[in-house]
Amino acid sequence: MSDKKESEKTKELKNKLLMDKPRVWDRLPAPEKADISHYAQLYMDFLNNSKTERKAVENLRNLASNSGSQDIVSTDRTSSRIFQVLRGKLLFLAVLGQQPMTEGIRLVTSHVDSPRLDIKPNPLYEEAGLAMLKTHYYGGVKKFQWVARSLAMVGKMFTRDGNVVDVEIGLKPEDPVLTIPDLLPHLSRKQMEQKASEFIPAENLNVVIGSLPYEDEDTTDRVKLAILELLYNKYGITEEDFIGAEIEMVPAEPARDAGLDRSLVAGYGQDDRVCAFTSATALVKISEPIHTCVAVFYDKEEIGSEGNTSAKSVALDQFLMELMQKTGINPSAKNLRKVFTAGKGLSGDVTAAVDPTYGDAYEKRNNSKIGFGIGITKYTGSGGKYMGSDANAEYASWVRRLFNDQKIMWQPAGLGKVDEGGGGTVAKYLANAGMDIIDCGPPILGMHSPLEVCAKDDIWMTHKAFKAFFES
Ligand code: MN
Ligand code: MN
Repeated sequence: MSDKKESEKTKELKNKLLMDKPRVWDRLPAPEKADISHYAQLYMDFLNNSKTERKAVENLRNLASNSGSQDIVSTDRTSSRIFQVLRGKLLFLAVLGQQPMTEGIRLVTSHVDSPRLDIKPNPLYEEAGLAMLKTHYYGGVKKFQWVARSLAMVGKMFTRDGNVVDVEIGLKPEDPVLTIPDLLPHLSRKQMEQKASEFIPAENLNVVIGSLPYEDEDTTDRVKLAILELLYNKYGITEEDFIGAEIEMVPAEPARDAGLDRSLVAGYGQDDRVCAFTSATALVKISEPIHTCVAVFYDKEEIGSEGNTSAKSVALDQFLMELMQKTGINPSAKNLRKVFTAGKGLSGDVTAAVDPTYGDAYEKRNNSKIGFGIGITKYTGSGGKYMGSDANAEYASWVRRLFNDQKIMWQPAGLGKVDEGGGGTVAKYLANAGMDIIDCGPPILGMHSPLEVCAKDDIWMTHKAFKAFFES
């Protein structure tokens, strides 16, 4: 045993030079700890009502409307709080600032789409006495995680006459659920020898949707017919209406407190609805900011940000130009460039928390940990930072000083060991437009799984970080 004792001088030096990243819980005053559990409850309610990007957009728009935000197309032009919904799946919220937008805006992005199973355009068939639905997975999923669990069917479709039908089955406690059964272990010898990426082939992600036959014993595909009759009676839809529909199979169970200490939230879709909720609830608290504050809620992030509701679309340009016009700035291409280049952005997205069971996949000194606050990811990408977004040092320094000054507890974050995989999010598209932007968000366990886990104190700190950023 050593009886070495650090001198006061050493302690002082260490205090001065070493990074100190304490747990959020150790530094929070008692009243704020109570706020956290209330906030987490609101967050879980939001998750449970927002199982699709469309539902998330609807709920966030309602949150904004309830705080006085007005539709950009409305005739009342006096409001400084404005929203726009595009195609039901992309949302912009803004609070106009005191300074002209060309002096710089404050932009927080997040995305409201999450990995899931979409229903195929011609999904229905009958085999072995069962009516089945074929699916096509969306985003980066481990396919084996989606079998043998309760699924709900949520989305939008149109009848032949163009009438809209909102489908929602499996979310209410009294609803039936749907499921993709897995092969029994007794007959799985071949399956168990296959690689995890292959043992549930995509074409095996078939949902059981019914088993009762239509009454006429002399016809074929009686179960499929009975299910179509049931769907027609409930929604007025026919088989052809599935073509072009957007129906998603999502985990049916609600988000819940997790851990004996109730410190965590376990639930589906937290990537990235956690940043959507924390930024939207921050923005509705902002009034008369110095800079115009904008929160963007993108769709299609999980499939590479393609399409007219994605971060690669020109939708944000259009929205900003509308705001410029509204505030008396010529919405020219030159001025729009100024709005971006003078602006500051946070790309809000979850980051991989170190999972002690899979420690080997992470680089512990540079990955975030549950309970240590919002993670700042200076750069994303894979391999040699390919396809990533790398914030410049000047801007990273600005964000760090803001967070430190505003007592935001943050930690360094990254996706894992170099060459172990990688990824990125929407930051690069804003950076390409000329904006200074950096990735940040709460650490998450089980990212992209049907049951993701976040810590309530990290969620709270993310909310506080976005609020401080809007107020800067
Ligand atoms: Mn994400
Ligand atoms: Mn993701």
